[in-house]
Amino acid sequence: MDLPKLAIAALGGTVSMQARNAGEGVIPTVSGETLLASLPELSTLARVTVETLGLLPSASLDFEFLLSVLSWASFQVKQGAVGVVITQGTDTLEESAQFFDYLWPHDTPLVLTGAMRSAAQPGADGPANLLDACRVALADGSRQRGVQVVMNGEIHRANSVRKTDSLALQAFSSPVTGPVGLLIEDCVRYLRPPVQRAVLPLPQQTTQKVALLEASLSADTLLLENILALGYDGLVIAGFGAGHVSQRWATNIERIAEKIPVIIATRTGSGSTAQATYGFDGSEMDLIRKGALMSGFLCPRKARILLWLLIGCQRQHELTRYLKGNIQHRCD
Ligand code: GLU
Repeated sequence: MDLPKLAIAALGGTVSMQARNAGEGVIPTVSGETLLASLPELSTLARVTVETLGLLPSASLDFEFLLSVLSWASFQVKQGAVGVVITQGTDTLEESAQFFDYLWPHDTPLVLTGAMRSAAQPGADGPANLLDACRVALADGSRQRGVQVVMNGEIHRANSVRKTDSLALQAFSSPVTGPVGLLIEDCVRYLRPPVQRAVLPLPQQTTQKVALLEASLSADTLLLENILALGYDGLVIAGFGAGHVSQRWATNIERIAEKIPVIIATRTGSGSTAQATYGFDGSEMDLIRKGALMSGFLCPRKARILLWLLIGCQRQHELTRYLKGNIQHRCD
């Protein structure tokens, strides 16, 4: 039987980590080829191409590198891959997934996975996650779903998934919506149909700087006062509750929003920002009046990725349109 072609890239992360010597901390050393050696059953499912594109902790990935990974993945699709899997560290998995999802123009599934336990730890979850990710990437039902994250038997959409636990095996969740699918007895089961996604052109520039600041109780305004002078091109605020900041922050945000795009998200970890509920100084209604945009369900980190990409392809004036899909509209 002619098996489908599957492409896998390893970027590093815990899934590729081992200690060089006893007592030392784990570091990325295990290649994609070695990872695959622990999954002999994969050869019965697909013809696999594997490449180690990096051996990095995911905190040290950057947008330029991710663009090169994206071009590798697109090349694999052109070469006939029916699915692409990328393994990376889980610390920034939710951000890479969103980054790729905005730029992935294919119907072909692109699936990200990693591990919470390193390769040599008892109960290492890397092999199971990788096999699950391959099954998802090969499934017909995964087409037209953009980029998805597969961890611990769950399938999550790129724009909803978050790392919500620092060390637990069940570290990923999609607040409010839950996973879009599950792996049950090795089968891919979707709970919801695919949704339409916004796909952006590749950024022509990558030097833009977008700051992300979190509101906190009694915070000073020193960083806000200097954002424009420091040369930032955009600002995302992880605001209190439904997208709120202090009165002093609101005054600064008004001045900043006259010059660069400012997005207000919620720091709560779940739920949407409001747009027409609170009217105090620093509330969402006040911040909208002052020129800021609300992110809706898009979390602060994903909102920063959207803004960085839009500035990179000179489409920042379309920010409202791209945020719109994430905004909860008031019922009539
Ligand atoms: N827990 C993280 C990981 O899964 C730490 C390292 C990283 O993100 O690269 O992979």
